[in-house]
Amino acid sequence: MKVLVDDFVRRQYFGVILTGGEPTLHPELPRIAAYASAQGLHVRMITNGTRLADPEFARAVAEAGVKIVHVSVYSVRPEVEEVLRGTPDTLEKAFAAVRHAHENGIEININCVINKLNADHLHENIEYWIREHPYIRHFVWNNLDPSMGRAEVNQAKFTPRLADFEVSLQKALQRLQSTGRTFRVEKVPLCYMTEFAWASTETRKIVKGEERIVHFLDKKQTVRQTDWEHIYSDACDHCSLRPICGGLFDRGNAYDPDELSPVFVSMDAIVDKIITDPSDPSYPLRRLSDWKRDFEIRLREAKDPERPKANASELTPEDMRDPDAPSVGLVTEQGLRKFEAKRRAESRKAEALGVTMERTHESGSNSDGDG
Ligand code: SF4
Repeated sequence: MKVLVDDFVRRQYFGVILTGGEPTLHPELPRIAAYASAQGLHVRMITNGTRLADPEFARAVAEAGVKIVHVSVYSVRPEVEEVLRGTPDTLEKAFAAVRHAHENGIEININCVINKLNADHLHENIEYWIREHPYIRHFVWNNLDPSMGRAEVNQAKFTPRLADFEVSLQKALQRLQSTGRTFRVEKVPLCYMTEFAWASTETRKIVKGEERIVHFLDKKQTVRQTDWEHIYSDACDHCSLRPICGGLFDRGNAYDPDELSPVFVSMDAIVDKIITDPSDPSYPLRRLSDWKRDFEIRLREAKDPERPKANASELTPEDMRDPDAPSVGLVTEQGLRKFEAKRRAESRKAEALGVTMERTHESGSNSDGDG
């Protein structure tokens, strides 16, 4: 891990996000966080909050320099959270984690994976957070990745249709905006969040030409991601937001391209809001005309078939995939066996740490469910 942190520092990255699986199961987590923050990196962590419910652990994480924790909660309805986590009482632990993090001076963001079971009450969750934990100022939604965790083996049960969450998401975003809170939304096509298109993670990356670096613990190792596994439909050809839209997330063929419908709004206002965002100085050009020139150049470069890939670390996930491998998200016997083996290994770790793991009803194995 030290080598990786040093590499991020050399690349002048702003920060690092510790995620998983469940990063708090790593026995060295406070040491890794302390080393990264000592090197000047801004350290965040994405967690289900189970271990942070222990006040001692929350204090150790704060002392290690973790600045922000993203606590993952599907739903503030206990019965929904229980089904999605596969084990009871995780919601109370998540609430305790939020309290302890706050008491130790750690900023809290709430992460929510949108799925079939919470799609209709995203706005109800927001009302709860605003009422009970008003100090939480930032929220992140991820539409479900059907290739991750339990969703991979239970697609029909968990994968929503885009229309399932459209209204509820809109209400939630409007409420957050009206109270001065901030938010980001991932894997949702802009036609399902047009009023808040500037908050789309993919759109922001496209506008700013950003990459992100991910270190996988398998053979992929360190990967620079400048492309995503998203597709477009014929409808997108008529859409004014096509140049800055991430399209439809396409793992496992779980989402329906027929749900996409073109919108006819100016993209200038959306781009302008992103590049002039005072809280995000990462893109250097602040004028729309300058951005248009820069974007044209990037588009030309991206379309150039001769453009060489600088090195293996610049390969996109598409390039890295074994052409004979089944499409990502497709449930195979081998995939199921690996899934079960991974859950058993995590379960052993959790047992050693005295943490209750979540269980899937169908497979009898353990899972975080949000990757
Ligand atoms: S129609 Fe296509 S390009 Fe337009 S917002 Fe929807 S997904 Fe994006």
